[in-house]
Amino acid sequence: MYDIIIAGAGPAGASAALFAAKAGKKTLVIDSDQSMTKKAWIENHYGRDKISGPDLVETGLAQMKKFGAEHRQAKVLSIDSTDTGASVTTEEETIEAKHVLLATGALTDTAEKSGIQIKEGPEPRIKQVVDITPEGRTSLDHVWAAGTCAGKSVHTIVTSGHGAEVAINIISELNGERYVDHDVLK
Ligand SMILES: Cc1cc2nc3c(=O)[nH]c(=O)nc-3n(C[C@H](O)[C@H](O)[C@H](O)COP(=O)(O)OP(=O)(O)OC[C@H]3O[C@@H](n4cnc5c(N)ncnc54)[C@H](O)[C@@H]3O)c2cc1C
Repeated sequence: MYDIIIAGAGPAGASAALFAAKAGKKTLVIDSDQSMTKKAWIENHYGRDKISGPDLVETGLAQMKKFGAEHRQAKVLSIDSTDTGASVTTEEETIEAKHVLLATGALTDTAEKSGIQIKEGPEPRIKQVVDITPEGRTSLDHVWAAGTCAGKSVHTIVTSGHGAEVAINIISELNGERYVDHDVLK
């Protein structure tokens, strides 16, 4: 069983996966390759002078894989609560995890089909978003959401930061104590 399955490998999902895998959690990212970030040219991401969206997405994928996160290209069709966590179903398989994180960008169809509570979106072009608690929990047990699909400001620095924030909350819950990841200058 995976510790965390993440739907979406844009800035929110890959950033969450990076934190989860680096924390030693068995992490799977399932992505349907429809990232809006792949259409962007970015000059407002802290720490980067400028970067193309495709390069940011590729760098994020490489970073999360470096720490052991697995990546599969597929669409998550539905999510269900289980006795031990949650499961995700694609066209090919149903996979179980202790926690599932939705990082599906502007797309909320899978959350909606799964009976997860949705609300009106806060920004132009984002019609609806997943309703989350301040920690990132959705209305379905063991299912969380981060980034654009969770109603965050549609900017890469914000969505990637929120992916990390919610991942830290999930890792902390798995560990039973607050998690911090600080490397020290070598
Ligand atoms: C033209 C354009 C220009 C932009 N320019 C800027 C800019 O200059 N600066 C800036 O900060 N931001 C910019 N943005 C916004 C930025 O791209 C987003 O704010 C942010 O990156 C979204 O991150 P995300 O991870 O939430 O979503 P996304 O990057 O959209 O990633 C979501 C991922 O989830 C996957 N997915 C969705 N549903 C499923 C499913 N059911 N199963 C599996 N996978 C699924 C998708 O395939 C996708 O890969 C721009 C956006 C656009 C469209």
